[in-house]
Amino acid sequence: MEATRRSGTAGKLVVVGGGIAGVTCAEQLAVQFPSEDILLITASPVIKAVTNFKQVSKVLEEFDVEEQPSTMLENRFPNIQVIESGVKQLKSEEHCLLTEDGGEHFYKKLCLCAGAKPKLICKGNPYVLGIRDTDSAQEFQKQLSQAKRILIVGNGGIALELAYEIESCEVIWAIKDKAIGNTFFDAGAAEFLTSRLTAEKPETAIAHRRTRYTAEGNKKKSQSKASAGNTGSALGPDWHEGLNLKGTKEFSHKIHIETLCEVQKIYLQEEFRIAEKKSLPFPTAYQNESVTTDKELWPVYVELTNGKIYGCDFIVSATGVTPNIEPFLTGNSFALGEDGGLKVDDHMRTSVADIYAAGDICTAAWQPSALWQQMRLWTQARQMGWYAAKCLGADISGHVIEMDFSFELFAHVTKFFNYKVVLLGKYNAQGLGSDHELMLRCTKGQEYIKVVMQNGRMMGAVLIGETDLEETFENLILNQMNLSSYGEDLLDPNIDIEDYFD
Ligand code: FAD
Repeated sequence: MEATRRSGTAGKLVVVGGGIAGVTCAEQLAVQFPSEDILLITASPVIKAVTNFKQVSKVLEEFDVEEQPSTMLENRFPNIQVIESGVKQLKSEEHCLLTEDGGEHFYKKLCLCAGAKPKLICKGNPYVLGIRDTDSAQEFQKQLSQAKRILIVGNGGIALELAYEIESCEVIWAIKDKAIGNTFFDAGAAEFLTSRLTAEKPETAIAHRRTRYTAEGNKKKSQSKASAGNTGSALGPDWHEGLNLKGTKEFSHKIHIETLCEVQKIYLQEEFRIAEKKSLPFPTAYQNESVTTDKELWPVYVELTNGKIYGCDFIVSATGVTPNIEPFLTGNSFALGEDGGLKVDDHMRTSVADIYAAGDICTAAWQPSALWQQMRLWTQARQMGWYAAKCLGADISGHVIEMDFSFELFAHVTKFFNYKVVLLGKYNAQGLGSDHELMLRCTKGQEYIKVVMQNGRMMGAVLIGETDLEETFENLILNQMNLSSYGEDLLDPNIDIEDYFD
């Protein structure tokens, strides 16, 4: 290993994490400081690179994400050196990181981009799986290929995708809310989507995929997995592409949703037998009322807080993530957010000198724009990684920079249940209080449009389907024009709203 230096100011620019935030940050630093050595330390054997970046509108962006060997990054940026090893300790006083492979690396400025870990409903139970990285996704696929019934717990993006994508396996989906997908939708949008969930799936594959993963390719790459535990990069949009999400049954899609409940208790088969409890069969519309007990023997049983018990082959815990901060805590006084992330200010600085953070690991602790909120998403990981590098560079060169425009308005494009979904601003009226109004337009099976208005101004929108309204609405939200006089015309399908505001 290269000789290390002891002085904090003589160290390198160091980034920890080979996910989108870390790689974007390292790339941007490499461009800003071509004559500096940039060190990227990552526990994962592959890095995530953003390719085909497209700025769709002022704030909406689309890009592909490619898993690449770290040598590709080093070839593209000769001043980046990648070390494939987990960080086991941070000594901030000495400006030093210790890695699993025995390395000692000194930094003058450091950006932590170590992502987050799935929050599991129960740790150490082999029948409870979390999905985070390529390895865990493949473990899930392996277990699903032998499964007749699974239970999904959680109501965020991952649970939504799984509920729609899984075939040939009974799926019981337990959510603590009244309606599906509450992270992204209100009850109206959820109802719109639920009809697609329970209907037969269209033959066509999802039209446009944005992330390139292949089960085969990933298998090869993951053989060199570093030994830092469950610390691979998070999967992202279209993470299930290339995975065969099929169980053992003949039918294509069978899902039952249990609302307003959580997991009370999990029993292994033997525990369940001893407890002398009874489990329910898979509920179907045509079920014989007298069949109230499931005769099948299952490896694991889940008792829900609504009193119902279901047996299944395994449980998918898709209940959110916790920032991956442990390796950096001992001996360092980081201020932490309520969600457990490293608090960062409007220049992505943590509370510890010379240390920045970006992506899933951090909690945005600045006073945000009235139209932005942090969500642990792919796009924000890229934006934060890029902006952290800019801020770090500005601090070194003594320049003052303004907050990046991407933090003005929350904007996210994704796909759920094969529909294009665009979320803008305070799309769920987050934090707006009770004096807001909603305007809706819905064509069953085709589009769902919701606009959040306050004091005549558009504050947010949910656009599901090919609505073509995203750019116009983005502008209306950004310029905060008073729209009171337009009333219902705003969503009138017979009015070309784009022309209206030209
Ligand atoms: P990560 O991608 O988690 O990268 C963290 C990096 O840090 C990894 O390289 C890891 O190896 C490294 N690391 C961790 N600990 C250490 C250590 N001690 N030492 C050194 N290196 C370390 N977002 C969307 O926008 N749309 C979606 O549809 C979507 N779907 C998702 C589906 C799944 C299954 C998952 C898990 C996430 C999904 N996300 C989605 C979220 C998105 O993937 C994350 O927000 C984003 O990838 C976070 O990027 P990051 O760089 O902050 O962290």
